[in-house]
Amino acid sequence: MNHQINSNIENKSNLKYFSETREARAKQILEHSKPECLDENTFLVPSQFDSNKKYQVTYFDSYSCNCKDFELRCKGKGLYCKHIKVIQLFQKLKNKLEIQNMLLNSIKINNSRNLTGEENLIKTP
Ligand SMILES: [Zn+2]
Repeated sequence: MNHQINSNIENKSNLKYFSETREARAKQILEHSKPECLDENTFLVPSQFDSNKKYQVTYFDSYSCNCKDFELRCKGKGLYCKHIKVIQLFQKLKNKLEIQNMLLNSIKINNSRNLTGEENLIKTP
């Protein structure tokens, strides 16, 4: 019984460890290369060690990847390999940029509205 509990705790910290290393590796991959977007749901992520090699990440309701790490350790457990994490980080960064652009655009729109408002005030006698 005790052994069972211990191994559960070990599994948990292993999972945390794997998850953290995957995230760190995903960041390393993103620093050196950008994932390719084949279509809305399909991405190619270059391998960390062999840039000629690419893994295909697909997104249909949930992510999946065709690498061994995903097949053996992540699939069916709700875990993501580093390639999937690359795509997630990439999307996050992209969203951030899009939100920034949206905010910039709305500021511009507000400014031009103010301008026309002032013009109208000046024109009315
Ligand atoms: Zn993968």
